[in-house]
Amino acid sequence: MSEPAPVAVVGAGLAGSLLACFLARRGLPVTLYERRPDPRRGTAERGRSINLALSERGLDALRRIGLADQVLADALPMPGRMIHPVDGDLDFQPYSADGQRAINSISRGALNNALLDAAEAAPGVTVVFDHRLVGLDPDTGEATFDTPQGTVRAHAQVVLGADGAGSAVRGQLLAHGLVDESLDFLDYGYKELTIPAVGGDYALDPGALHIWPRGTSMMIALPNPDRSFTCTLFWPTGGTSSFASLSSPAAIERHFRTHYPDVPPLAPDLVDDYQHNPVGLLGTVRCDPWQVGGRVALLGDAAHAVVPFYGQGANCAFEDVVELDRCLDDTGGDWAAALPLYQSRRQDNAEAIAQMALANFVEMRDKVASPTFQTFRKVEHALERALPGRYVSRYEMVSFTTIPYAEVRRRVRRQHQLLAATVAGTAALLVGALGAAVTRSVGKGHGAVRQGHSSAPRGRS
Ligand code: FAD
Repeated sequence: MSEPAPVAVVGAGLAGSLLACFLARRGLPVTLYERRPDPRRGTAERGRSINLALSERGLDALRRIGLADQVLADALPMPGRMIHPVDGDLDFQPYSADGQRAINSISRGALNNALLDAAEAAPGVTVVFDHRLVGLDPDTGEATFDTPQGTVRAHAQVVLGADGAGSAVRGQLLAHGLVDESLDFLDYGYKELTIPAVGGDYALDPGALHIWPRGTSMMIALPNPDRSFTCTLFWPTGGTSSFASLSSPAAIERHFRTHYPDVPPLAPDLVDDYQHNPVGLLGTVRCDPWQVGGRVALLGDAAHAVVPFYGQGANCAFEDVVELDRCLDDTGGDWAAALPLYQSRRQDNAEAIAQMALANFVEMRDKVASPTFQTFRKVEHALERALPGRYVSRYEMVSFTTIPYAEVRRRVRRQHQLLAATVAGTAALLVGALGAAVTRSVGKGHGAVRQGHSSAPRGRS
């Protein structure tokens, strides 16, 4: 029997570490290359997405390698959104019809460390830190890395790029003219702030994802196990009320007191955080193809970074890993067949979540505060309860199921058509019934019609 093909996974972030665990279960020799030093021995970068929302797709992947319970032990369930208006009461909006299902706030660093521990413990996996991929020959699988000791070359039969939105593997394929890419950046950036614990307790309700919707911009906050909250501002990068327009301490304080009045009393380091934490970019990365020659492939953000407004980037990256593993099953471990199959099964789904994530930005920063939206959600939840399994909201399908994202879009379209047809049908019936009633009344004489008109407003008032 021939030796199994050695695999190089580039990037020991969330997707790369998980992928190494899955490949190890197949008995493949895997080397996981990471440009950073071992994160388990250092401190996290300041202001860089400290926590994230993990939902069913991510949990499904973790269950398959026996890590879900460990990760959930430190997670904080968030069964709904808590809306913070400029003035007025807080408004809790449950995510699911039964009010029970929750997305989970988890520490990105803790999740990455748990996955690294699992990868390192898996048979056949070698993890090397301080190795930055700088060159790749897609024909031979020879990769070049910059390390503190100088340049290192390595050879693998299969190279999998899980090296994030700015992927060097994708860059190498691009340089060889083997892929096309598009990067669509928003005119928005993000910046993190902290609301610390107060007297050892949470300053806000930890059982919710908090949102301060402000029309063209917003802030969100997710709870952390140390009883702090990590807040993320999603603001325009230029123009008025933007990151560029606010810099002096007085202006920062004034802006928060005016637009986020409940925040300054809870965030003593607000100005310092604001002035020193970086502004991150937000964008959608698309590329095609995702694999070349059945030897080099991209997954996670390297293939399809999405904006974070559905909390699905990492969840989607984990689904890529599950699907690639399934493709290896379906092709008897033949990489040349499995990689094109993986691309064909995942690409439409990645595009679907990319579009839904962009649409959800408008929902979060603007619509959630409107009474029309709140009524719509209540009607939707009532329909879900009345028609279990037949009417399921988009949020429910995206966050609490593993229905493929592209199928979610199709089902939501069909449901909305059905809803529109039902509403139109009901309206037509009502109009018909009203028309018949009016005709009957007219037939009986004008007095009856006048009486009907004059009594209606009194009845409604
Ligand atoms: P990454 O996590 O970026 O990992 C890539 C790894 O590759 C890193 O370790 C990096 O150091 C390494 N690397 C890079 N270049 C090289 C190189 N040349 N050589 C070797 N190694 C290299 N997703 C959710 O599911 N839920 C959320 O709530 C959520 N919130 C988010 C909030 C914000 C503000 C942002 C920006 C993103 C959020 N995401 C969320 C998205 C999520 O963070 C990403 O989709 C996820 O991290 C992608 O995982 P990845 O492994 O593909 O890439």
